Amino acid sequence: MSRTVYVNGAWLPEGEAKISVFDRAFLMADGVYEVTTVIDGKLVDFDGHAARLDRSLGELEMRSPVTREGLLEIHREIVRRNDLREGMIYLQVTRGAADRDFTYPEDAEPGIVLFTQAKGLVDSPAATRGLSVISVPDLRWRRRDIKTVQLLYPSMAKMEAKKAGADDAWMVEDGHVTEGTSNNAHIIKDGRIITRHLGSEILHGITRAAVLRYAREAGMEVEERAFTLEEAQAADEAFVTSASTFVTSVVAIDGARIGGGQPGPHARRLREIYIEKSRANAI
Ligand code: PMP
Repeated sequence: MSRTVYVNGAWLPEGEAKISVFDRAFLMADGVYEVTTVIDGKLVDFDGHAARLDRSLGELEMRSPVTREGLLEIHREIVRRNDLREGMIYLQVTRGAADRDFTYPEDAEPGIVLFTQAKGLVDSPAATRGLSVISVPDLRWRRRDIKTVQLLYPSMAKMEAKKAGADDAWMVEDGHVTEGTSNNAHIIKDGRIITRHLGSEILHGITRAAVLRYAREAGMEVEERAFTLEEAQAADEAFVTSASTFVTSVVAIDGARIGGGQPGPHARRLREIYIEKSRANAI
């Protein structure tokens, strides 16, 4: 079934949606994005994603093509037009089309594209089974806090994982885990969550922030600091967070089994809490 997508103010069948060959996101990866989850036809943590989008745009001195209210309206409309009950909304803002040049164009109109991806997220076989990950060096640029569309290295790392028979890769820099290819990485030792502190080395996950808040509310201790791969392999539990995977256990790292190779009780409970709260707070 053809989706209806949003391109610069127009609602179009997906096959008719086009952008310019001069678009700077195409030529220079000069674009930022967000992925917002939909559960029960409602948006999960829209405010968090909108705030991070503003921050990404600000860091790149890129103008927003829409107001916050306009953005919410477009998100709601795309859910309605595609009858989306569960899945994701992909949003991309680009600096726009201009003749190829390294300096930012002064007169380009920023572009905006949204499309939906229907997917069962709550009942996830991967979450029940747990993920296996391999480690790879983190070879990305150093402004990972900006959510740009330059995703080639994470894509290469994911392919390496796939070839090795694993589900995903955790990236390592200076001996410490930064994050997963498309998620934040966390471990649990003696009931305490250990997760990398925020900085320009990782994306400030919206799910990460919510899960840590819910964990603290539930009385769990959280330590925000860098951890090594060896520490992760010796942890009681490990898990990743992202908008589309919520909380998903990691049960093997470079072949070393974590928590007996099964999703552990803390991560399972955090997933339940996260889904329950997300459902209750979705708009
Ligand atoms: N880190 C990276 C590198 C990511 O790509 C993502 C998901 N886009 C995340 C973390 C998780 O962020 P969020 O919880 O906001 O989806």
